[in-house]
Amino acid sequence: MSELLQISELSASIEDKQILNGVNLTINAGEVHAIMGKNGSGKSTLSNIILGHPSYKVTAGDIRFKGESILEMSTDERARKGIFLSFQYPTPIPGVTVSNFLKTVLKANEKEIHVREFRKQLKDKMASLDMNSQFTNRYVNDGFSGGEKKRNEILQMSFLNPALSILDEIDSGLDIDALKIVCEGINKLKSPESSVLLITHYQRMLNYVVPDKIHVFVDGKIAKSGDASLAKELEERGYDWISEPVGEK
Ligand code: ADP
Ligand code: MG
Repeated sequence: MSELLQISELSASIEDKQILNGVNLTINAGEVHAIMGKNGSGKSTLSNIILGHPSYKVTAGDIRFKGESILEMSTDERARKGIFLSFQYPTPIPGVTVSNFLKTVLKANEKEIHVREFRKQLKDKMASLDMNSQFTNRYVNDGFSGGEKKRNEILQMSFLNPALSILDEIDSGLDIDALKIVCEGINKLKSPESSVLLITHYQRMLNYVVPDKIHVFVDGKIAKSGDASLAKELEERGYDWISEPVGEK
């Protein structure tokens, strides 16, 4: 299996505060990985750094994607290479409709499609996410419920078909029906060419999207890795029994 993402000995800080402390993580093409861990353990920091958020400073290590270091690339370049990040807190964009935003995103990623094909795909994808068709004319995330915001993120992702989708707490604020629909959307996007990194605080979404590997984040590094059964153990025992970081290697 070919390596898609390879993070080695990654350390990073924000405003001189050290947050990541030597992360090692390899995701192969077609795999689904989940990162779990307490609030504040550095999960969102890792996803922001993979996308190149300018507030964070990488102090050691490397991130390679499709065999190439991406640390010097801008966020746009990383997105064009095929990395997609869905935000934990999607922001409203008043004045920009869902439909126009999608067109802009596709254009920016050099994935424009013919207008008729766009409309057809939009209709089909929205139906499969159980989104009302009037949604296309609403302003992005403006007054959206938690579930609507998350569905909109999955909608974008399904148009882009990224090689790597990072979904940061896409399950937060979702009721069980919305969670199932969002997870079905994620499952549809899994393919030998599309890998997924799910970041979640809770085990419940991993009942619907079953990961190949689970990693537990403690104090800015991976303290334990395992298969899908690790989620059940965490659900029963919490995080505190994982104290001795053993790394991933
Ligand atoms: P998680 O997603 O696992 O809950 P985060 O990556 O959001 O954790 O946060 C990890 C640590 O980094 C926390 O202690 C948090 O307070 C700190 N942190 C995150 N963003 C900032 C920031 N912009 N300024 C200062 N500290 C931050
Ligand atoms: Mg977070």
